[in-house]
Amino acid sequence: MSARKKTTRRKATRKTAPKKAVTKKPAAKAPRKKAAKRAKPAASRKPAAPKKATRKKVAARRKRAARQVFFFGDGRAEGSAEMRETLGGKGANLAEMTRLGVPVPAGFTISTAVCAVYNQAGGRIPEGVKREALAAMGRVERAMGRRFGDVSDPLLVSVRSGARVSMPGMMDTVLNLGLNDETVRGLANAADERFAYDSYRRFIQMYGDVVLEIPHDRFESRLDDLKDDRGVDADTELGAGDWRGLIREYLQIVLDHTGRPFPQDPHEQLWGAVAAVFRSWDTERAIRYRQIEGIPEEWGTAVNVQAMVFGNMGDDCATGVAFTRDPSTGDKNFYGEYLKNAQGEDVVAGIRTPQPINKSSRKDDSIQLPTLEEEMPRAYRELVRIYKRLEKHYRDMQDIEFTIQAGKLWMLQTRNGKRTAAAAVKIAVDMAKERLITRQEAVCRVPAHSLEQLLHPTLDPSAPRDVIATGLPASPGAAVGSIVFSADEAEARARTGERVVLVRIETSPDDIHGMHAAEGILTARGGMTSHAAVVARGMGKCCVAGCGMLRIDYEAGTMMVDGKTYRTGETITLDGGAGLVIRGAVPTVTPELGGAFGELMRWADRLRTVRVRTNADTPGDAQVARDFGAEGIGLCRTEHMFFEPDRVLAVREMILADGVGARQRALEKLLPMQRGDFEGIFEAMAGLPVTVRLLDPPLHEFLPHGDDDLRQVAQALGVATAALRAKVEEVKEFNPMLGHRGCRLGVTFPEIYGMQVRAIMEAACAVEARGTKVRPEIMLPLIAHVGELRVLRTLVEEEIQSVLACNPGSRVDPAIGTMIEVPRAALTADQIAPLADFFSFGTNDLTQTGYALSRDDAGKFLPDYMERGILDEDPFVSIDEEGIGRLMEIGTEGGRSVRPGLKIGICGEHGGDPKSIRFCAALGFDYVSCSPFRVPVARLAAAQAAVERMAGKKGRG
Ligand code: PEP
Ligand code: MG
Repeated sequence: MSARKKTTRRKATRKTAPKKAVTKKPAAKAPRKKAAKRAKPAASRKPAAPKKATRKKVAARRKRAARQVFFFGDGRAEGSAEMRETLGGKGANLAEMTRLGVPVPAGFTISTAVCAVYNQAGGRIPEGVKREALAAMGRVERAMGRRFGDVSDPLLVSVRSGARVSMPGMMDTVLNLGLNDETVRGLANAADERFAYDSYRRFIQMYGDVVLEIPHDRFESRLDDLKDDRGVDADTELGAGDWRGLIREYLQIVLDHTGRPFPQDPHEQLWGAVAAVFRSWDTERAIRYRQIEGIPEEWGTAVNVQAMVFGNMGDDCATGVAFTRDPSTGDKNFYGEYLKNAQGEDVVAGIRTPQPINKSSRKDDSIQLPTLEEEMPRAYRELVRIYKRLEKHYRDMQDIEFTIQAGKLWMLQTRNGKRTAAAAVKIAVDMAKERLITRQEAVCRVPAHSLEQLLHPTLDPSAPRDVIATGLPASPGAAVGSIVFSADEAEARARTGERVVLVRIETSPDDIHGMHAAEGILTARGGMTSHAAVVARGMGKCCVAGCGMLRIDYEAGTMMVDGKTYRTGETITLDGGAGLVIRGAVPTVTPELGGAFGELMRWADRLRTVRVRTNADTPGDAQVARDFGAEGIGLCRTEHMFFEPDRVLAVREMILADGVGARQRALEKLLPMQRGDFEGIFEAMAGLPVTVRLLDPPLHEFLPHGDDDLRQVAQALGVATAALRAKVEEVKEFNPMLGHRGCRLGVTFPEIYGMQVRAIMEAACAVEARGTKVRPEIMLPLIAHVGELRVLRTLVEEEIQSVLACNPGSRVDPAIGTMIEVPRAALTADQIAPLADFFSFGTNDLTQTGYALSRDDAGKFLPDYMERGILDEDPFVSIDEEGIGRLMEIGTEGGRSVRPGLKIGICGEHGGDPKSIRFCAALGFDYVSCSPFRVPVARLAAAQAAVERMAGKKGRG
């Protein structure tokens, strides 16, 4: 590159920087400066504070920093909600609830930092930690009025894990700890004999399984034998004598298995359980869960030791779980279930039918079980008072666990509740209206990708299902229909009103009509950006792709999976959100989009700076996208129009033509059809920009495959089959994705692009003449060298001028831009930008060519990469920021260095992925473009990116 060009680039960069600064900085900075000035005197007053007090404070802080065990109970707690990193989620919330004056059984939390120390010390709990824990146990004893190990009325404790983020069911818990052959008698005297011995046998079983690592079924099978002997089905039918006998057997199992008697010393039990919880951080299932959820290894788990309270001591006892708002609808109804005379695990185990806590929790009117409100009104009233307090304090919907022991309510847990996407939207909007949170917070409360759930029908969660295979969740939603193996059959059956699922080894553009007709699409091959996935998302259809377990035989009309054969016409159901193939018909539900959704979207739109366009090729899709809030079309793939059955013959004629004249004659047949397409799209997108990309795929994709197809086409075109076969062979390429496609077609067959530009322009002029504002943009695919753009820009401009000459009053003035979808284009963006009015990053091809990963084949081996921890995510789903993202950064900087303010967008599938949208927003993109059903996702994700950036700036400022 010449030195002169370099200078220009630097100059341009310098020019832009102050420009941006001038608009925002003074207003934003001035108040901060003032604040800093005001802050100074206060800061300078500090040294004047009494020295003794300062020293005391510093000492207290040091003590806190060195502390490894944190007590909570009796209204006082050494921890708080802010200390999640140290105490884990559960410990932090137990401390916080205690501080709020909520009745929480006393306990203490051993910090997450000890987990690493325990592992480094080869599985030993440091003596210092034991000392602190024993001191805390003394405080627990005082708070609860019982002593640990007391033979007359023992304090029992639970020992539970608690990581920074919830890892449900992944780590271990021990309940009823402190029981032994003596203390059980004390408990029997103080409470009830049956209850005491039941608790002891539960404890031996749990401790044996979790701490002593004795297989669970060794205990379970003895319990089953006992029930058989007594001829009963439920544990509740066994008495104290039965439990005593079983305990003897359990103690023997422990001795046989470990060679040592069951530990009778409560302190030995305690250290054993604490160590087991630390060890459970490193079980295979916990490690796997962390890999999937991206939770760092080094976080570790805390251990919560807490006084036991019992919901199974009689009819004035109960245990339950509740949500402060309905977790499936988001309605502001206190919602929950409980069991009388039961332990927490019984609610989860589903042995007995839980009762609703109040009338609004009664989902099924046919079961008229009494409510907690009716059975224990005092405890219920207190629960209501507490849930309101907790929700207000945490400013989010809470999932709470409680136990009532002898009429007294105890809270065992609170955490932000999991919820459906619909509930998340409703709760966020309602809470903003209640002024519990700000609108910005409301926008950030809803996971952007979850909105897709709201727009598609999904499987009825209560319906049973028989899953026969799994593949990639390529396009969400659910589809039920009979199996068909060809696009033509899909179309034919759909015309008669039958619902069909199109099953293909992989799809090609030839299958478009069948995909359109089908309820859903299932493929054996292909990844998240395979043809099937991209087109299905565009159409808003459900798709399961890359389902490698399927053996499809088109000839026989069968698919085999797991040794079973399914034939044409058999009914299957697809769950595109989970990638499931299910035998038979599963009922679906269509979620309703309430007012809350629209409201949240309006708040999001006010916050975001990045515009959201759509990838749409038909007026219908364009309209759907517009209804979802699209602000234009970022990619109209013209080749999809070429595959319509009524025009593919003309396309084939054009490809097979010998010489320019014959080609032009074929193109003339296509011209009016393309013009019609564009008119429809311009009308649907009135007043909004529409980027039309000129022909992109390799030509052989349009040609017939297979003998029958070949014969039919030869007949329709009036040519010999042999001649057609020879032509097909001639067009075939070894590596078509890097072959004669994209702008390379325009260079060698300028008449094709000429026809397309003419169709765009004539359509634009016609629609404009009817009084509708049109804003076409013409985009060239696969540009790698500025020379290609130079030649093609001239061609496009000449065609534009020629149409305008026939429409003298027209104001249509299309921008001419390029896709940046090969690494060379990104690296030479400063050379390309002077000839491009806009850049649109085609990240499907940029990932394919920059990563050297075939977008149609990677689905076969990428799962192994993820399983082996080489990759965290599929680079076709979320932009590989380090590699492909770096190319995007270079391309953006290069382009804007010579053309400040160059409009830049993205139209690859990543344009609908929230994480990639955040990345594009950080690069300063003007817009993202995605399939119609992802438009709301992108609007919300762009708003969240804007809020994050604002918060980041504030943090730095
Ligand atoms: C791309 O490559 O990212 C793109 C949008 O083009 P296509 O998917 O049509 O190749
Ligand atoms: Mg591309």
